Amino acid sequence: MSSHDVIVLGGGCAGLSTAIASAMLGLDTLLLEAAPQLGGGTANASGFLWVGANHLHAAAGGNDTPEAVRDYLHYVAAGGADPARLQAFATQAPEALRFFIAAGIPFRLSPRIDHYGMAPGAMAGGRILDTPPIDASVLDAWADRVAVPAGPLHRLGGSEAVKLGGANSQAAWDAALVLAREAPGRRGAGAGLVTWLVGTALAHGVRLRVATPAARLVQEAGRVTGVVTAAGEVLTARRGVVLASGGYESNPELVDRFEALPGWQSMFPPGLRGDGLVMAQEIGAAVHVIGNNLSIFLGFRNPEEAPDLCRLSGTQELVAPHTMVVNRQGRRFADESFFQAVAPHLRSFDPARGERPNLPAFLIFDAQYGAGQSFAGRPPGAPIPGWVARADTLEALAVQCGIDPAGLVATAARFSADALAGQDREHHRGETPWGLSRLAPAATLGSIAQPPFHAVELHPTALASAGLLADSGARVLHVRGQPIPGLYAVGNAAARTETGAGYQTGYSLASGMTFGLIAARDMAA
Ligand SMILES: Cc1cc2nc3c(=O)[nH]c(=O)nc-3n(C[C@H](O)[C@H](O)[C@H](O)COP(=O)(O)OP(=O)(O)OC[C@H]3O[C@@H](n4cnc5c(N)ncnc54)[C@H](O)[C@@H]3O)c2cc1C
Repeated sequence: MSSHDVIVLGGGCAGLSTAIASAMLGLDTLLLEAAPQLGGGTANASGFLWVGANHLHAAAGGNDTPEAVRDYLHYVAAGGADPARLQAFATQAPEALRFFIAAGIPFRLSPRIDHYGMAPGAMAGGRILDTPPIDASVLDAWADRVAVPAGPLHRLGGSEAVKLGGANSQAAWDAALVLAREAPGRRGAGAGLVTWLVGTALAHGVRLRVATPAARLVQEAGRVTGVVTAAGEVLTARRGVVLASGGYESNPELVDRFEALPGWQSMFPPGLRGDGLVMAQEIGAAVHVIGNNLSIFLGFRNPEEAPDLCRLSGTQELVAPHTMVVNRQGRRFADESFFQAVAPHLRSFDPARGERPNLPAFLIFDAQYGAGQSFAGRPPGAPIPGWVARADTLEALAVQCGIDPAGLVATAARFSADALAGQDREHHRGETPWGLSRLAPAATLGSIAQPPFHAVELHPTALASAGLLADSGARVLHVRGQPIPGLYAVGNAAARTETGAGYQTGYSLASGMTFGLIAARDMAA
């Protein structure tokens, strides 16, 4: 039996941040990661953190205020936040940023903006941060134990990608420039952030173990005192166990139980199976579901790239001209260019027909799109792959996909006329401040008129709606309301009650870092 002050379960942003903070506060800290490599969903991320009223922005002349930050958080939360957790996140995130910079992670301002430009307190910059690319060789023997997803984003870095033309438009980047900036060990975006975190954890004496899933919590006289690994090893934690094991997005049973979104595909690694949720429920922890979760996206699996991973389409194909999204009736149902406008419609239910009118949904595009834009990360103009449905008429395409042919033809005609006039009268595509920050509305519009026509079924994918109910001190709450002594939940293992229903790039990673510090301080106190 080995004994430590703190045991952290999960090697993503939340777990590594907690472990770094615990070690820096003088606690003997062990981190267990179930997978053979560290990184979790964090490695897949673009690597942006959202921290309102931060000191880097202030030093650069920014005029953000705590009041504006709270206004913005309240708006985005759409009624789904716990005021105490929201307040803790708003006030402690800037503090956590300073703490982790002092720990050795060189966070910097990124050119990205707030999603909801229309919200009170929104800022057009200064709140999103990321880390510069890093060479994996700094990790020595640990270099191969960090997951690195496919694609240039994780070699270049998030802010670098934005400057090349957008983190989500990699196919449009200047290939020569990308090549010039690449180096064999270079890690950027989520993989880069994990590399920074692992290097910092090792430097501060955190003990890291991979391929060691925790299976069960040990409780003595009501207090969590350790864990049992899947191999049966008992590990003792004198100050606390921190669940940083992510969500359950890759566990179909839990997805069915909590999400009710048919056709769900996971955008996260297969190890995200809700282990923390299950282990904590076994000892009476409360689970909380964020109602009307807006962190839902549409995407599809690319069999040539990562056949098990849902590739997000909402910020790529869906904002490009000559594309639209329709339901089985062949009708559009939202502004495709603003994914949070799409999300609520995916949950619609029609009791008269006994069906969800907007699932499945289909991405429709024509030859003009294929000629000028990037599909599934391929270079613009590359042939559309054979696994995509194709037909010379919209009617034939509709029949192939089980879409109402008359509906699809009528929708394409209306959408094309609007596109030519430069305004989507039906759903106002591209007119939100978020859309406008990247493209003028007319630039997201284009007629769907030139054969061949293509269709891809789109699947809902999301940050899970449910997680452990934790208080503003990151302590897991029992179903009867009191904290379970010795048990903490951070990152996606906890319900997002600090940010609620809405989604803003960077909330998730910043929350993991912030509540990681809060938990570490509580355990050290
Ligand atoms: C394409 C994409 C881009 C994104 N971009 C951003 C972004 O820019 N900014 C942002 O804030 N969010 C972003 N996100 C969301 C973000 O990736 C996640 O919300 C975040 O990484 C969650 O961090 P975490 O530490 O809670 O969990 P994870 O990073 O998922 O880590 C959890 C870890 O726990 C491990 N684990 C599971 N069970 C056990 C067990 N029993 N024992 C031990 N270990 C276990 C898992 O293997 C995993 O490594 C993005 C997501 C995607 C898919």
